[in-house]
Amino acid sequence: MARLKIAKLGNPILRTIAQPVDPGEIPGRAFQQFIDDMLETMTDAPGIGLAATQVFRSQQVIVMACSGAGGFPETVLINPTIVYYGPNQVETWEGCLSVDGLRGKVTRPSMVRVRGLDRYGGPLELDATGLFAVCIQHEMDHLIGKVFLDRMTDLSTLTHLEEFDRYWQKEPANVI
Ligand code: ZN
Repeated sequence: MARLKIAKLGNPILRTIAQPVDPGEIPGRAFQQFIDDMLETMTDAPGIGLAATQVFRSQQVIVMACSGAGGFPETVLINPTIVYYGPNQVETWEGCLSVDGLRGKVTRPSMVRVRGLDRYGGPLELDATGLFAVCIQHEMDHLIGKVFLDRMTDLSTLTHLEEFDRYWQKEPANVI
């Protein structure tokens, strides 16, 4: 396994639209290695989600995992589509492995139903709520060239990590 270089804000790759993965490519050793490398890179960072565009590969692949209370199991989503958004909104502090040292509040639907392929190319459909739903939406934004800053409707909450730790650390923040 290998740790991959993470693209930082300003790198044009983060603004690209990711291409769908050819399902025939998924079982191959090279692609499976790429998934393992993404998971290792995310865990090592550490973060709870990573999109392929963040590691310089403009393909529709996201990996996610978050242990502990409110967490969710390791999930790999290929060619994902959100087929349903729940009616309620949730406001969450977000950070991003491609946006060093900043946190900001983002409001998103609190529930999504997503459909795609799993890491072996099998069909996958799941309902996600809470942090998992936020993470899926954050990562899928990366696949269309968006970062969480683009989703902030009130930039007054944009906060340096040092100030976040000083003033806001009692609220959970998630590096996605
Ligand atoms: Zn991100």
